[in-house]
Formats: sequence, C-alpha cells, structure tokens
Amino acid sequence: MKRKKEQKQIVLIGAGIMSATLGVLLQKLMPKAKIDIYERLNKVGAESSDAWNNAGTGHSAFCELNYTPEREDGSIDIDKALRIGQSFEVSKQLWAYLKKNKYLDTKSAFINDIPHISFVWGKENIKFLKKRYKALTKYPLFEDMKYTEDFDEIATWAPLMMRGRDRKEKIAATRMDIGTDVNFGAITRGMIAHLQTCNNVTLHLGHEIHKIKQKKSGKWKVEMETVKDRIDKVIVADFVFIGAGGGALPLLEKTGIPEGRGYGGFPVSGQWLRCTNRDVIKQHEAKVYGKAAEGSPPMSVPHLDTRYMDGEQGLLFGPYAGFSTKFLKNGSYWDLPFSIEPHNIWPMLSAGIHNIKLTKYLIEQVVQSEEDRFAFLQKFYPEAKMEDWELAIAGQRVQIIKQDKKKGGVLQFGTEIVSDKTGTLAALLGASPGASTSVGIMLDVLKICFPKKVASEKWKKRLSEMIPSYGVSLVEHGDLCRTIREETSGVLKLMD
Ligand SMILES: Cc1cc2nc3c(=O)[nH]c(=O)nc-3n(C[C@H](O)[C@H](O)[C@H](O)COP(=O)(O)OP(=O)(O)OC[C@H]3O[C@@H](n4cnc5c(N)ncnc54)[C@H](O)[C@@H]3O)c2cc1C
Repeated sequence: MKRKKEQKQIVLIGAGIMSATLGVLLQKLMPKAKIDIYERLNKVGAESSDAWNNAGTGHSAFCELNYTPEREDGSIDIDKALRIGQSFEVSKQLWAYLKKNKYLDTKSAFINDIPHISFVWGKENIKFLKKRYKALTKYPLFEDMKYTEDFDEIATWAPLMMRGRDRKEKIAATRMDIGTDVNFGAITRGMIAHLQTCNNVTLHLGHEIHKIKQKKSGKWKVEMETVKDRIDKVIVADFVFIGAGGGALPLLEKTGIPEGRGYGGFPVSGQWLRCTNRDVIKQHEAKVYGKAAEGSPPMSVPHLDTRYMDGEQGLLFGPYAGFSTKFLKNGSYWDLPFSIEPHNIWPMLSAGIHNIKLTKYLIEQVVQSEEDRFAFLQKFYPEAKMEDWELAIAGQRVQIIKQDKKKGGVLQFGTEIVSDKTGTLAALLGASPGASTSVGIMLDVLKICFPKKVASEKWKKRLSEMIPSYGVSLVEHGDLCRTIREETSGVLKLMD
C-alpha cells in the first residue's frame, strides 16, 4: 500500500508488551498513522513478556518489600510503592478498556485474582514489616492490607508454608486480597492480534533490525534482515520506538544519538524451581514475597508464587540469579562484549567497582548446588520434597549502567526512556518493575515524544476514554481510586 504524504510512518522494534502497548495507544490516538512492528523471533511476546519467563506478578507494591526501603532514620520510604501501585491501576484500566471494547480476545484468562503476601522472619524484619504496614495503610491504594504475627492466621493464608515450621519461630505477614497474577505474554499477543485487525498496522515476524540512522530530513532509516533468508530490507520512519527489551541497548548505540552515550548494560539471568506435583500446587494460593538477601539485585527477592496459565494453576519459587553474557534469552553470548564501546567502558568498570556486594551475590548464586537452592526453598516451604520440583530458565534482564559525574558509572534497577532531542526516536532500557507498569511507561514515551499532541484536548479526551483516571493522582484522590478499582476489577474478573 502506498503511503499518503501526510500519513506518519511509525516503526516499533520488538513485539513484547512495551511495543504492543505503545502500538495500541498510538493506533487509537493516530488511527491514520502507518504502524510497522518488527520482531526477530517467529512469535509475538516470546522473550521477557512470555509467561514462564517472568513471575507474572501484577506489581502493585502490595508484597514487594524492595519497593519500600528503610531510611537511615528507621522510617520507611514508600514513594516508589505509591508510584508503582498507582501505575498498575493505570495498566488495569487500559486492559479493561480493551476488553470492554472486545479488542482483547477474552477466551483465555490473562489476569487472575490472587492474594499478595509479604512474609518475614526475625525480630528486625518483623519490625520493618510492621512499620511498612503502618505507613502504607494510610493510603487508599493499600488501605485493605492486613497484618499479623499469629502463626495460625498465617497458616490459613499460606498453609503450605506453615506446615513443619517451628511454632516458636518469630514470623509476621501482610496480606492484600486484591493482588493479581498476570499472563503478560497473553496480553501482548492479544494486543498485537487486535492491532493486526486495524488498517495501517503490519506485523513482520522473523525480521531483525541491525541499523538505525537519521537522515538529513530528520527521518530514520531502519535497516534489517529477514532471519530465515537473510534478505536485506529498509524502511524510512517518522518515529521509531526501540522496544527490543534486552536488545534495546545495542540498537540505541547504533543510532549514534548523543543522548545514548554513556549507557552500558549488565545482564542478569534467572532460574525458577517449578513444582510438578499437582497435589502440592493445589495447596498454595498466593504470591508470597520474602526479603532479598544482602547485596542482591531487587528483582532477586525470593517468592513462592501461584501462577495461572491457560486456565491451569502452577507454582514457582525463585528467582535464583545467574550470569550470562546474553542480553536476550534467545540472544548471543557476544551481546555483552559487543555492547562495550569507548563511551561506556569507564561507566561499566566504575559500576563494577562500586557494586562489589552484587558481584559477590551473583558469584554465590552461580556456584550454588541443587541442594543449596532446595535449602532456600525450604525456608519458605519446610516440607518441600526435591522430587516435586524442576529447574526452569527464566527471562534475561539487562540492568542499566549509566554515566555518573561523581562515581563514573552507576548501576540502575529501574527502566529509563532515552530519546533524541527531536523526540522522533525513543528506546526503553532496563527491566523493572516492567510489564505491570508498561502502560504508565508508554504514556511517558508519548509525553516525551509527542508533547504538543499530549497537551491537546483531542488526545486528552481520547486518553481519558482509555484510562479514566488519566492525569489524576490515585494517591491523592482516594474515592476515585476506590471507584476505578471496582470498575476495572469488575471488567477484568470476567476473564476467569
Ligand atoms: C525473571 C523475570 C521476572 C520478571 N517478573 C516480572 C513480574 O513479575 N511482573 C512484571 O510486571 N514484570 C516482570 N518482569 C519484567 C517484564 O517481563 C519485562 O519488563 C517486560 O516483559 C519487558 O517487555 P519488553 O516488551 O520491553 O521486552 P520483551 O518482552 O523482551 O520484548 C522485546 C522483543 O524485542 C525483540 N527484539 C530484540 N532485539 C531485536 C531486534 N534487533 N530486531 C527485532 N526484534 C528484536 C525480542 O525478540 C523480543 O520479542 C520480569 C522479568 C524477568 C526476566
């Protein structure tokens, strides 16, 4: 199809949840734009967004203790928890809008209610959990949280974890009943399937982007190769989004934009223990997060998780961190070495020097035996039997290393949008908290790259139709938070 002169050409690189979300937002906001999605694999949502490659936690900061660090004065910093809690409500609103309008295939469930529990042992951790509970429950987002130190009550919340445990052990837990397990892979495939029904949207599987260069006109020349036949292709775009997950950093480097200088990537791989015994799986219905070990990256918080995939209940424990030089699970061992360039060598070395505890933690994780892994599981589930669990490889995450004036380089655990000064190209680096906050992150991409349009009444109206709380704080507006939650839960519940 020939493109009309005024028709904008948009290129989305990668068919994970980020590109899918941005694709849906852009298609609804600019229905006339031509959107081309390029994915190197032959399947949509098959990297980090795929169900067994991530933990499927609808991160709402209900149970993730790393989102509420303790300050030096002993108080609890809940800023991140409020931000993430609110952001997940925004994601749920878009998914509910898509479902209500029959844009998402609802035959298979992609979101399920499951209690989110934080579980700790030891005097200091109990003190921390109680303070966290008090700080969070002041806000409507967390007002339904329950707290207990009672063994029998916890036994009703997570029976598997209490069986065989010494009653004298000091333990505490919080519980939020409205937690969720999300199949992000199913959402991604659902959104892209919908996009394929729209005029002007084309999905190209098996296409690997290898070069992105800005033309004198300001447009972007995107060069690629078909994976099967190695045929070279080129597309010229007005706007490019690099939503390539772990593959985003090498592509950002290829654009040569000054804003991309000084970034490096540090890959952390993950492993789960997956339960194979259906009797055991049935006895646990919660996502139970513990406290991360000292020096560990935030995404290594251990958790015993109920999962739902294609209607079937599952149970996993982990993640155990590992090290691989690959940036994608289906990537190459050359990813890390090839990403090192003169502009990021020093930030990467400095980040290494300043994160000795992390290095030590990773080495310990990599060298641990099957027995070590199992002993850790038994801290959560004392009567666990080795024959009921198998080891599975999770997705790959690339943590951002960023140039820092004082330290040379710092390791960052969040996500970061890097865009050029004209706002015609944006890349998403980093991984956490990830898919749960994908809608909020993609709204930020719109704000950075389409500032005038985002400020226009037309876009504001359209965005409010998709996300009813758009532009309003759910932290400050308790009643709106309660109403929105009830509405989205009502719509999304029909999925099960
Ligand atoms: C172990 C683990 C646990 C996690 N747990 C959770 C959780 O519980 N909750 C949560 O919200 N988030 C979680 N996350 C994070 C979440 O999975 C990610 O943030 C999210 O899936 C990232 O989506 P994406 O679209 O950016 O990347 P991806 O899903 O990885 O998609 C990127 C796509 O780009 C493609 N691509 C790469 N390079 C190229 C190229 N050159 N050309 C064409 N295509 C390319 C890839 O093949 C891939 O399909 C977890 C992640 C991991 C690894």
